[in-house]
This record gives sequence, structure tokens and C-alpha cells, in this order.
Amino acid sequence: MLKAKTPEEIELMRENAILVSKTLAEVGRAVAPGVTTKELSRVAETFIRDHGAIPSSLGFEGFPGAICTSVNDVVVHGIPSDYVLKEGDIVTADITTLYKGYQGDSAYTFPVGEIDADTRHLLDVTKASLYKGIEAAIVGNRTGDIGFAVQSYAEANGCSVVRELEGHGLGKEMHEEPGVPNYGRRGHGARLIDGLVICIEPMICAGGRGVYIDRDRWSVHTADHRNSAHYELTVVVRKGKAEVLSTFDYIEKDGNIRF
Ligand code: MG
Repeated sequence: MLKAKTPEEIELMRENAILVSKTLAEVGRAVAPGVTTKELSRVAETFIRDHGAIPSSLGFEGFPGAICTSVNDVVVHGIPSDYVLKEGDIVTADITTLYKGYQGDSAYTFPVGEIDADTRHLLDVTKASLYKGIEAAIVGNRTGDIGFAVQSYAEANGCSVVRELEGHGLGKEMHEEPGVPNYGRRGHGARLIDGLVICIEPMICAGGRGVYIDRDRWSVHTADHRNSAHYELTVVVRKGKAEVLSTFDYIEKDGNIRF
């Protein structure tokens, strides 16, 4: 049985979602050739703690980083490391914060310097597929409608959809019911109710959709080692139009940077 959040809970989660959104922008400002992914994690952790929150990823099931940093063929769950970003790379920051008892969770794939046209296409398609999913996150629809929206857009634009990982409900726990797959059939899956808080997070590949887990036990790579992108926002299911709690505006509307 899915549970809607109360208005009070949603206000707390909105505050947290804004914090996560601002943290993503801080990370974005730090992304550049020559920077390590560990440095990106340090920037995020400092910002999160300075604002009275806790990076939830740190220690979650033993995860060793404050955020996930996933480079190029790593889809998700990359461990911050001494890897030095280089021109043409892409890096996803996936950030989860615990604030006043509730979780915030969003992700953004950043280009490192200039990227090639195929990679730009992957990023554009992945982000647009997220917004297609959000359009379907309305009362009366089901999780399959969200998955269908994401999948049909991504595949129509020449990309593939990872099946092994999915979005999720969000609240006091980092992962709550329902699962929100990025593929699916219209009219199938859990019925979406007013006030349900979910994270929609397409993980989209330039090549095939097959993935495997690295020997580090965390990093999920594409099997063909082609690039993968990942964007995530937290939304409240509403009648007619979802209410989006987190935002990429701090990243994209900053006068100094353009992603
Ligand atoms: Mg998530």
C-alpha cells in the first residue's frame, strides 16, 4: 500500500530537495579537466554539512563516498577516486542528503570541457526523457506510464534504457515503494496517488543496455563500455501535473556556466 506524504513532510522534503539541487550546482562549478572525482565528492560533502545535512550515501551498505561520481561508461554508483577528469569525459554526480529526518536525492551528468556531438546527444536525450517521465507522474497513472514515457522517448532517439536499476519512492528512507522503472507498459505497475513522493531517474546508454558490476562491487558499467548518462529529480505526484521538488535551475541558470 503506497503512502502519500503529508503537507508538512513535503515542505521538509522541498527544503532538502533545494539543498541537493544547490549541492549539484556546487559540484558542477568544480567540474573541469584535471579535477579528481574525489575532489568533487569533497566539495559536495563540505556544502552538505555546512548546511546542516548529512551525505546519506556515505556508509550506505558500506559505500565509501559522500556522493556517487560515475564517469563515462559508469552508469551509476561510481566511487569517488583519484581518477583525474579529462576533456571530453562526462561525470554524473548522484547526491543523497539526510535533512531533518528526510532524504533528498537528485543526479546530473556534467560534461567535462568540450564533449563530442554523440555524447551531447546522449545527455540531451537522457535529460529530456526525465522530463517526459515527470509529465506522466500524475494521479491516475501508474508507474508503467512513467517508464513507458521515458523508454519510448529514449529509444525513439537512438538510445537504450538500463533495466537493472530504477527510480523509487523517497521519504525517511532513501529507497521507498514504489519502484519506478525507466521502461514499461502503459497502465501497468503501481497506481500513483496524490502526494506520493518519487524520484524519477533515467539511466540511458549510447550503445546497448547491458550492464555489469565492477570488481569494486559498486560501479555499474555498460557492457559495451559506451557512455551512459543519468539525471534524477524528486517529484510529488499531483492531479494533472507533478510538483517538482528539486531543480536543475541552479546549474543551468547560473550566468557563469552552461551545461
Ligand atoms: Mg535515486
